[in-house]
This record gives sequence, C-alpha cells and structure tokens, in this order.
Amino acid sequence: MSRQSFVIIGNGPAANQAAVSLRNQSSDSKITLLSKDPFRGYLPHLLPDFISGTIGEESLYFRPHTHYKERDIFLRLGQKAVEVDFSKRIIVLEHREIISFDGLIIATGGKPRIPEYYQLFEDLMLTLKTPVDARLWISKLERVDSILMLGGDLTSLSLTRALLKMGKTIQFIINEDCFWPVPFSNQIYEAVTQRLGSDGVEVIHCNKIKRVTRIDENLVEVETNSMTFRTGAIGAFFGLVPDVRFLVRSGLDIDRGILVDEFLKTRFEDVFVAGDCAQVYHPALRTYWGSIGYQNATTLGRIAASNLLGSRVEAMVAPESLFDVGGVKVNTSWWMEF
Ligand SMILES: Cc1cc2nc3c(=O)[nH]c(=O)nc-3n(C[C@H](O)[C@H](O)[C@H](O)COP(=O)(O)OP(=O)(O)OC[C@H]3O[C@@H](n4cnc5c(N)ncnc54)[C@H](O)[C@@H]3O)c2cc1C
Repeated sequence: MSRQSFVIIGNGPAANQAAVSLRNQSSDSKITLLSKDPFRGYLPHLLPDFISGTIGEESLYFRPHTHYKERDIFLRLGQKAVEVDFSKRIIVLEHREIISFDGLIIATGGKPRIPEYYQLFEDLMLTLKTPVDARLWISKLERVDSILMLGGDLTSLSLTRALLKMGKTIQFIINEDCFWPVPFSNQIYEAVTQRLGSDGVEVIHCNKIKRVTRIDENLVEVETNSMTFRTGAIGAFFGLVPDVRFLVRSGLDIDRGILVDEFLKTRFEDVFVAGDCAQVYHPALRTYWGSIGYQNATTLGRIAASNLLGSRVEAMVAPESLFDVGGVKVNTSWWMEF
C-alpha cells in the first residue's frame, strides 16, 4: 500500500506545528509543506527588532533546513497554491504543477488589512508582515527621518518603539478603525495616546486622511481635515485579514476566514483548517470565531493534525475573550496584552 500523502498549505506557526504533530503521530506518511514565500518560516513579532537592527535576519527564522530533513517533511518554498479541487483531491500551484493529497490542512494565515477608504493610497504606504516587508522598511529608513503611522494595532506600537530607538520622528494618526479587531473605546484611545505622547510621538487627531501626494521618492504630502504636512514614509497598520482569496471558488464556506466546525473540519472529507485563516464554530455560542495570534495558530495546528488522523479534539476559546467585530466573534487575547 502506498504511503498516505498529507499536504499543508502554509509555512507559518500553524502549518509547522501541524507538520510536526502529523509526523509524531504517523511515522510513515508523506508530509509536504507548501509556502508561497521563498524563505523559511519566520516569527513576525520579531520583525520590528530586525528593522531596528537589534537582531540579525537569521534570528527571524524559527527552524533550520535540517529540521525538515530530520523529520522527513518535504518543505517546498516559493510554491504558491492557486487552486484546490476537493473532489479530485488536487492542488494547483502557480507554475501549473498539480499535487494530489489524501489529507489537507490549510494554514495560509493573514495578510495586512488596509481599510477600503485608504486603498486609493495603498501604493504609498508600507505594511509589515514578512522579512521582505522588513527589508523595504530598512531601506526606506536609511533615507528618511520622519514617519507617519496610521492605525494602532500591536504591530504599529512595537514598530514605533523600534523607530524611536533609531532616533526617528514619529507622527501617529488614530481613528475609530485603529485598534481593529479590538472595538474602539475611549479608554483604549486615551491609554495609547498618553503612552505614545510620553514616548515623544506626536498624535494627530483626525478621522481620515483626505489626500496623499508623492512629492519625491522620500517625501509625501498628507492632508487631513485640519492640517497639511509632509513626511518621509507612511506605515499602515490595521491588523491582518485571512489570506484565503484563492479559495473563494473552491466550494469551501468562506466568510471572514474559512468556516470550519469545532473540530476544524471543512465541509470536505479529510480537509482541515488551522491558524489565522480559520473561522471556527463555537457550539455553545452557536456562531463562528476567528483569531489572529501565535498561540492560537500553534494550538489549532496541533488540533487539525490530530483530527486529520482520526481524533475528535475540539478547538475551544473562552467566550469572555471573544469580541464582536462587525458581526464576527474575534478572539483578541494577545491584543489585550498592551
Ligand atoms: C509584525 C507582526 C507582529 C506580530 N506580533 C504578534 C505577537 O506579539 N503575538 C502574537 O500572538 N501574534 C503576533 N502576530 C500575529 C502572528 O504572527 C500570527 O497570528 C501568526 O503568524 C499566524 O500564524 P499562521 O501559521 O496562521 O499564519 P502565517 O504566519 O501568516 O503563515 C501563513 C503561511 O501561509 C503561506 N501561504 C499563504 N498563502 C499561500 C498560498 N496560496 N500558497 C502557499 N502558501 C501560502 C505563507 O507563505 C506563510 O508561510 C504578529 C504579526 C505581525 C505581522
């Protein structure tokens, strides 16, 4: 009988945990990890330290290549999945190669979220998700001294700290969308404004930017409802949204993320979802929840692997850590840390 073939789309914390858990519980299966990124799995929360030079690039990556060889896990970097046919049990890669699977875990994580009203200026804004984004920041920071931060998620706060350490001048625009997915409250607003102010950051009070004009490569002009000013670069930080667009025509149920039951199973046999891209049913609440966070990603990775192998482990989150964001329950546990 041929070896069972398990494929995991993704190479972040959820995917890596799923791969290790699968290997621990099924020594003779074939396990393949697919990543659209050309680099090894990395820890996104260390990117601000990399940008400020506190750590070197190598410290970002959480597993050496030998890890995969030793565990007989086939890691395929720079291989983007563009289509999945669940009835034929095949994945189509961007270069049109077809990979078949007996069991599949989707762990494609999230990508930076830009609110619709800022999408017009998107090309003039820097985001931060991958080491490639971080290198863009590093190259920009060699040339500019002032940065405008838009948003307010935890990423922007830790990057702001790193930029201040580098001696940069920071302006910050906070509006009602800025703590997404944490609902906006005056209490959070006051706490963050006070903290930024005491760190030497100028907080600009405005609802939305009206205009952004590129003056030259290292200067943009920004107009709000109350002032016009110039800055060297703009960073946009409005949280992460699940990276599942390539699956919208696949027959999976997709809302904010991919809808799965409490066992992380999709409507298709032997297909599970883990990490930031999952939206999980909560039987007690009778609704779905999602989460953006490292701990949640590894926990779901472990559960998805066990359930793919036949267990019935429930993925649970405490109802008190769930917030309602636009009708979706969001587990914001790590966002509450600041
Ligand atoms: C700057 C920053 C700071 C953060 N700080 C914290 C923190 O302090 N604490 C915390 O808990 N969380 C933090 N987070 C969030 C945390 O990093 C994520 O929740 C976690 O990485 C999610 O893991 P994941 O495996 O679900 O997805 P990801 O880490 O997003 O990995 C997704 C993987 O899927 C791959 N992929 C996507 N689409 C495809 C495709 N079509 N084909 C093939 N591969 C694909 C990608 O290449 C990637 O390897 C931070 C995130 C950022 C960006």
